[in-house]
Amino acid sequence: MSKRIVILSSEIANKIAAGEVVERPASIVKELVENSIDAGAGDIRVELEKGGCQSIKVIDNGSGIEREDVALVFERHATSKIYNFEDIYSVASFGFRGEAMPSIASIARVELLTRRKDDLAGTRATLEAGKIQEVAPAGCPAGTQISVTKIFANVPARRKFLKTESTEQGLCLDAITRLALAHPEISFQVNVNGRDAFTAPQARDVSERIAMVMGDDFSNHRVLIAAQKENFSLTGFISRPEFTKSNSKSIYLFVNKRFVRDNSVTHAVLSAYRQIIEPRRYPAAVLFLNLPPEDVDVNVHPAKMEVRFKDSHGVYDLVSKTIAQSLAGTETSKGSLIYRLAPKVDLLSRRKDMNDYASDFAPSRDRIPVKPFGLFSRQNLQQAITNDLSTRSSVAEKVATFNSDNIGAKETITFSSLKYLGQFANTYLIFAGDDGLLLLDQHAAHERIILERLKKTMGPQIISQSLLMPEIVNLTPGQITLFSGYINFLQEIGLEIEIFGRDAIVVKTLPVILSQVQAKEIISDIADQLGEQNQMPSLQEKKEKILASLACSAAIKANTVLSSDEVAALCRDLEETPFNLTCPHGRPITINFSLSEIERMFKRK
Ligand code: ADP
Ligand code: MG
Repeated sequence: MSKRIVILSSEIANKIAAGEVVERPASIVKELVENSIDAGAGDIRVELEKGGCQSIKVIDNGSGIEREDVALVFERHATSKIYNFEDIYSVASFGFRGEAMPSIASIARVELLTRRKDDLAGTRATLEAGKIQEVAPAGCPAGTQISVTKIFANVPARRKFLKTESTEQGLCLDAITRLALAHPEISFQVNVNGRDAFTAPQARDVSERIAMVMGDDFSNHRVLIAAQKENFSLTGFISRPEFTKSNSKSIYLFVNKRFVRDNSVTHAVLSAYRQIIEPRRYPAAVLFLNLPPEDVDVNVHPAKMEVRFKDSHGVYDLVSKTIAQSLAGTETSKGSLIYRLAPKVDLLSRRKDMNDYASDFAPSRDRIPVKPFGLFSRQNLQQAITNDLSTRSSVAEKVATFNSDNIGAKETITFSSLKYLGQFANTYLIFAGDDGLLLLDQHAAHERIILERLKKTMGPQIISQSLLMPEIVNLTPGQITLFSGYINFLQEIGLEIEIFGRDAIVVKTLPVILSQVQAKEIISDIADQLGEQNQMPSLQEKKEKILASLACSAAIKANTVLSSDEVAALCRDLEETPFNLTCPHGRPITINFSLSEIERMFKRK
């Protein structure tokens, strides 16, 4: 038996729409502030009571609303922002569905006070549960003030879904932060429970606004990015590798000035940082992507937080490549003279027969170069390491903080004024400066050097070496299957292999950089990487893991005695390597002990 069809009352329709648009106090804040921005306001003030759960007030000095239009504000599909369907493809404003105000009014009590600049009197309107109670003349400043109270009072089910007041408050502030980032020309003031919580006066540009909104920490560790591809443009700021966060919330993407969430763009950002920052740490970024309105569909999500790009691959590429290049460009040091003069020592050749050297290169004071070569200048590396590690409290405890003066902070190791003291445990190189000691993990450092070289020479530039006798390596049939998907990639890095029956592969060439390593060892390391089942990394991640494992097999091992020439060569190479603060697995390459820390340990302080 079929049921009869009825048309829903506007009251019910609005409540249903509200379910999509008004999820929580933060969505109300977002919609109201967006309306203020659309109304051309230069000053926006937001007042929240009890995390926005009790009341939300937004006051702007925008255009104001004509008295005759006030009732229309709360009608569904009433908007001043589009007139034709085609307009939705070119709207520069936030709204255009005409849904927010009626939705908000349907689940709360709303009071509106508004006056256009040239009108003598303003208008006051009140609504309860979507029904207009009164519209009357009222005195008020030019602009619009909207107070929303009794939020979700008539939809108890929604109220139940609200989190704690402080969580809701945080979400409201997040919403304002995003809008403030995209609109540096507007001044924002936020008052929470009667106290000013956040003020961002009008800023000259995004950069100045970022400093107000995201704090000094990010501002001191950011890199400007800018790129253009056809009619896409990407600008913004990304964090240097030493500045990390515990989640990806600090990655902000604005598409044509609108904050959006886009997993693929977030992934593109993360991919550029992979192998530079530790696993499960995240960068911060404020990205502005501008593209012709017809190349992006903003109409996908009711709250308009999601978009669809016509050329999503193009966007992904632009983001990941621009960030990767900008990060690589942050290596500013070109190597000090002393390193360029240091004898070219091939550290790679050390690996095969390291035991032959062991007795020759026993650490002794005699081996300290007469002219001590510096490791880093205190104002840059130490600070960078300090910053890097201070964000990881566990390590930070062990690592001392040098002078807090971070002027000129850089992000890579540069070598200028420290003395090499010797090797400890045949693994760690010890350097001394005026302000402390630095330990460098020789294996981690060399891994990073090799990884970056491998990446740099991948493809046509790679130099590989044919094996005199192709080497047959036995594997399980499962491993063979895994390898088959990577034959082309391995070829790109100079590792030519061929599948040989069900359970073996033949290695024909090795990249020169790995020529000291046994083919068997390389293949079994790759097999281990490919066989790892614990997560489902992307193809790109797998490839990066392969590179990292190759770098690991080729790098000088711990427990290898190094001559001072070799140490000099290692330092020189490291200096010329991007991302030289962490190894490909994200572990630190160097650890600092400041003089003051040491003095404290000796109870001198
Ligand atoms: P939309 O923003 O999609 O047009 P809304 O329901 O958010 O729909 O708002 C309806 C209309 O009310 C807007 O188109 C605008 O004309 C008017 N309006 C809402 N808020 C303000 C404001 N703060 N200042 C001026 N006009 C406003
Ligand atoms: Mg709106």
